[in-house]
Amino acid sequence: MSHAEAIQSTHHTAGLRLNRLHKSFKGDEVLHDINLDVEAGEFVVFVGPSGCGKSTLLRLIAGLEETTAGDIFIGDDDVTERDPSDRGIAMVFQTYALYPHMSVADNMGFGLRAARHPKQEIADKVNEAAQILHLTDLLQRRPSQLSGGQRQRVAIGRAIVRDPDVFLFDEPLSNLDAELRVEMRLEIARLHRQLGNTMIYVTHDQTEAMTLASRIVVLRAGCIEQVGTPADLYSDPDNVFVAGFIGSPA
Ligand code: ADP
Ligand code: MG
Repeated sequence: MSHAEAIQSTHHTAGLRLNRLHKSFKGDEVLHDINLDVEAGEFVVFVGPSGCGKSTLLRLIAGLEETTAGDIFIGDDDVTERDPSDRGIAMVFQTYALYPHMSVADNMGFGLRAARHPKQEIADKVNEAAQILHLTDLLQRRPSQLSGGQRQRVAIGRAIVRDPDVFLFDEPLSNLDAELRVEMRLEIARLHRQLGNTMIYVTHDQTEAMTLASRIVVLRAGCIEQVGTPADLYSDPDNVFVAGFIGSPA
């Protein structure tokens, strides 16, 4: 087996199940009975107005917030009580959250170093992710020497090296200008084809939702309003709210 095949064969993916999830902050319920099944390898996009609970839902899946009730399964594993680092997920944030004093390579390898993976393995994974993301020539730079798009690539690279079953993206492109946003959207689509991981992606950009999603989940005030393929939601929205988000502009 070649080196590239050896690395390729280590990529895994798993489905995701949200079972009767509730989340309250100080008695105030912001997510009400969320049920969702995501198949391994699916690209699911959450859309909905600001404050409807998209980020909270991602943070529950990531384990960055505790559930108030309900269960989260990744593959066959109930991960509801597990630490974020033990769930097989990696999250990419809107504000790249890179360490300014570290090189690109060190930023990308940080999680693996913290988990005490062998040096050579970290270097291999960082190099592979850099190749996938066209960052090979930038590995020794600091984040401050990169453009916004390059920084977001590093943040995505840091997720790739952890080889997650499930990628979680919270509005990853909303800090980029329009042109870069298109470029990075195509990049993320390519990444999904190449890696085959399950991706859960939050956006308020209709074009991102329509072009990236295998299915779109429309959230409204902490509830799932409708789930369907982009074509389904576009041609057959359940109500005016969904139509307003996904349908053709009036
Ligand atoms: P979205 O990402 O869709 O804009 P959020 O998930 O950030 O929405 O927020 C959903 C609701 O939960 C909002 O009403 C928000 O004010 C509230 N919320 C989110 N995080 C917290 C928190 N840590 N403490 C209290 N309320 C929160
Ligand atoms: Mg949010």
